Amino acid sequence: MRAARDREGLQGRIVSISGARLLNFASNDYLGLSAHPDVTGAAQKAVLEYGAGSGAARLLAGGTLLHQRLEEETAKFLGRESAIIFNSGYHANLGAIPALSGPEAEIFSDELNHASIIDGCRLSRAKVHIYKHKDNGHLEDLLKASGARKKLIATESVFSMDGDTAPLEEIFHLSEKYNALLYVDEAHAIGVFGGGRGLVSQLDLPPIPRLVQMGTFGKALGSYGAFIAADKDIIAWLQNTARTFLFSTALPSSIIGASLAALEIVSTGKAPIKTLWANRDFLLNGLKNSGLVLCPTESPIIPILFDSVEEVNELSKKLFDSGIYAPAIRPPTVKRPRLRITVSASHEEGDIGKLVATLKLLLR
Ligand SMILES: *Cc1c(COP(=O)(O)O)cnc(C)c1O
Repeated sequence: MRAARDREGLQGRIVSISGARLLNFASNDYLGLSAHPDVTGAAQKAVLEYGAGSGAARLLAGGTLLHQRLEEETAKFLGRESAIIFNSGYHANLGAIPALSGPEAEIFSDELNHASIIDGCRLSRAKVHIYKHKDNGHLEDLLKASGARKKLIATESVFSMDGDTAPLEEIFHLSEKYNALLYVDEAHAIGVFGGGRGLVSQLDLPPIPRLVQMGTFGKALGSYGAFIAADKDIIAWLQNTARTFLFSTALPSSIIGASLAALEIVSTGKAPIKTLWANRDFLLNGLKNSGLVLCPTESPIIPILFDSVEEVNELSKKLFDSGIYAPAIRPPTVKRPRLRITVSASHEEGDIGKLVATLKLLLR
């Protein structure tokens, strides 16, 4: 059985768990923004101004002017007409995918898509076609064979457990050719790719109505919650039909204040994205020639693969005893057991050096 591992203090470069101080290689707080004074300060200010809880769903005045501003700023940040805030990435995928498809639609979903996308597909009651990971040939065969009037392609831009990226340009062309909506989950790309604007932005995909961008504030932005940015008609449709938006209490203003502050740091170019990538390259270089089997990662998610759960559990435990927190991820979350290392801008070179040296020592 797995059990929750709870911290005794801040989320950051160092975490304290069960009385041990550990170098943290498990966090998606890629830019170290969760403890940034502007971000925590904005949360404090908002909680005093608007209260701790929001009291109701958005349509019943649970939201505040901060919610409105965050939606406006998010849309502006991504160059889209409009945006809608969801309580989490899970809520976003669970609510938006059914709202954008439905029983008459067909959905085309990458086999490695996140559980929240899978569950959104299930709730939609659409016919779901799973295409082989990043396999555009397979995706096109399925699209070609489909007679559905309404089609939706769903993919992550950066895959959360493998760290690789989707061939978004080609998928975008397929979505045009076969008249499908393209739903891109940028949970691990916002704050990391495209100057923080995600992979869609890095690839300069045009902001046309069929393109729907989803992202979260809980990973690189160091806060919590999620957004969907798209055409204004799609956002209006989601505001009226996405059940996780309609029937769940709005996020508290403290969270929204934190997200606004984090977004400002990223959108004004003040986030340490370059440091993040330098750290990531430094770690990858260090792991070269180590004999370890890495996933073909293209992001700060660096998975090391193992044949057995026992092997990876034991390594993770030994790392813990050496002062390093790097969690084992195992089936059914992933097919092949792995140590999922995530690197952050807040790591120092010495931290990464220690991780590499310890791994080499333990695996000798
Ligand atoms: C983390 C994640 C989510 C869920 O987002 P939360 O805000 O944590 O609920 C959705 N999709 C992907 C790809 C993720 O990695």
